Amino acid sequence: MTVVQRKAILKAEGFFPHKKNGKGTSIIYSRKHPSAKFVRVVVDSGIDGKTGKIVGKVGVKLCYINRQKQWREITTEVFTTNTGLVKTIRAQEAAEKFVKTCKHCKAKKFTAKSGNVVCANACWTTWGGKKKAASTTKKSSQKITAGKSQKIGPRQRRDQARQRNYPLNKNPSQKKVQKFEAEILPGDLVTIQEIIAGKMTQDYTGSVLGIVREVEEHGYVKVHWTANTTSVDEYMLPRSNCYFMSDVIDYRLKVLSRPVEYAPVT
Ligand SMILES: [Zn+2]
Repeated sequence: MTVVQRKAILKAEGFFPHKKNGKGTSIIYSRKHPSAKFVRVVVDSGIDGKTGKIVGKVGVKLCYINRQKQWREITTEVFTTNTGLVKTIRAQEAAEKFVKTCKHCKAKKFTAKSGNVVCANACWTTWGGKKKAASTTKKSSQKITAGKSQKIGPRQRRDQARQRNYPLNKNPSQKKVQKFEAEILPGDLVTIQEIIAGKMTQDYTGSVLGIVREVEEHGYVKVHWTANTTSVDEYMLPRSNCYFMSDVIDYRLKVLSRPVEYAPVT
């Protein structure tokens, strides 16, 4: 009776059964969200696909289908009984508007395995590609310069070869890269700050939060990140108590739980 009833409710609500359940043996049902694009209401029927018997409560959640057609859970699955099923479906549908949206590509955000809330399209990976392309262009233009030098006399060539020994330093007097360090301690509540050319360019207080678990040798810091509503992916988050004066975008830890300043290391 309950199996028949459960299937009848799902049918009346416009759900269709899936052929497969990647995680278990119960039959999965889904249908489109009434208004949100690329969002599906997904129901784990709790009905065993082989025996046709009820093996558990019925679970309802929302999934976002990303560009790679992967289904990303954007709400926590809520389990209910047959009597609460329609109400739970409505509640999940309504929860869609509270799911954060990626400001870059408008996709929904979800909680990744790392625990970070990230864009379902992983759109930050394509920005990395752009950056890589830019640096490749730079390299190829350097190659052209090197090629040109072959046409000139041996002395000039030798001079250029010598110059190429330190091509990254426009000003040889600033050869030594300045290091800045701060005292980071286990238990510190931290966020991150963006650093460009040694200057703080963005503060992520309120959108990235972590707790320092360990501080190892050489200032290596292990942080348990508890919140990240930004597109700064986990691999980009800082792992040490220091940062360097450089032209690339870098991130440093900022201690929130006590006053901590960075100081130049001499
Ligand atoms: Zn995105």
